[in-house]
Amino acid sequence: MPVSKNKIRLPSMSRGTARSIAWLRFGRAGARPKVYFQAAIHANELPGAIALHHLMPMLTEADRARRIRGEVIVVPTVNPIGQSQLVGNNHLGRYDLLSRENFNRNWLDLSAAVAGQVGRRLGRNAAANVELIRKAAVAALKAMNPVNELQTMRVEILKLSIDADIVLDLHCDMDAALHLFTAAPDLKGAAQELAAELGVQATLYNEPFAESLTFSGVNGALWPRLAARFPDAAIPQACFSSTVELRSQHQVSHELGASDASNLFRYLVRRGVVAGRVGPLPRLKSAPTPISGMDVGYCPVPGFIVYRLAAGSKLKRGDVVCEIIDPADPRGPTARTPMVSRTDGMLFSRKRDGGLAWPGMVAFRIAGAKPLAHRKGMSGLDD
Ligand SMILES: [Zn+2]
Repeated sequence: MPVSKNKIRLPSMSRGTARSIAWLRFGRAGARPKVYFQAAIHANELPGAIALHHLMPMLTEADRARRIRGEVIVVPTVNPIGQSQLVGNNHLGRYDLLSRENFNRNWLDLSAAVAGQVGRRLGRNAAANVELIRKAAVAALKAMNPVNELQTMRVEILKLSIDADIVLDLHCDMDAALHLFTAAPDLKGAAQELAAELGVQATLYNEPFAESLTFSGVNGALWPRLAARFPDAAIPQACFSSTVELRSQHQVSHELGASDASNLFRYLVRRGVVAGRVGPLPRLKSAPTPISGMDVGYCPVPGFIVYRLAAGSKLKRGDVVCEIIDPADPRGPTARTPMVSRTDGMLFSRKRDGGLAWPGMVAFRIAGAKPLAHRKGMSGLDD
């Protein structure tokens, strides 16, 4: 099949302006497994876009050689609203300036709509249920009438992803080690294979599933939400979804993009989406850890931030991660407010040295194995 290039037109928000989202299909529509990739929903996070830039020629070549068994959807930069938010020579891509919503929150939980449509028809046949649920989810999206550009983007993008077997949402952090977020039901198999293939330094999982309405959260959690509603029906985890954090915002290079693309392509072969052979799976660099064991450091005071440890550092409980400096305090070292780790683990995400710090700002995240009492009931997705 020739690669098809498509366009979603978003409704205009002001006379004389209009935006659209480009997406591509490799392989055949309706073939399985279906894999969905997107990058830059946080529009200023482009390491995923460079990875997809290098992946697409590989997919084109595989398509030409008739090696694509399934269907691969690629949305290279999914968020034209965020792409256009250029303010005073800065690109502000994380929050919608109109609604002030985080672009990766408030995605649609379709479980109630699907339950209303097909709940009574779900039975003991898992394959039949999967088919029924996927069709009902797409139908629910088609029945929606979004009124503005952001809502339209969410509905139209979910139409492409909600029936996929694998959904990978490519992000990055400010200054971070390669890591990914997934949910406990996916850990064995799909998630651990991806983690090993990509060489991630941390795999964090929601348990029992992602409660927050992130893009990958709503795609993956549709299944356990329905399974909880209909305990007598056979409802498998039919979609593996993950937020993949491809290191730091500034790490956009051909070297990293090409190597991430090769790893993603090998993953597609390993999952049977593309025909071919791959070598043995690399060893997982670190054991998966629960979100409940993730320590999040919130700045207690205003000032500016200086780190003692680099992203990717292993640390012990009590180690100083960073300090907040009061610039007007003349006492030198005692003008610094230290922030310490409350777990043994790995510092996988931090902000950049020298940035302004304010009370409540997330200064770091640490992957730890043991659930932390102070993290109970928190998702960690607090910015
Ligand atoms: Zn992001």
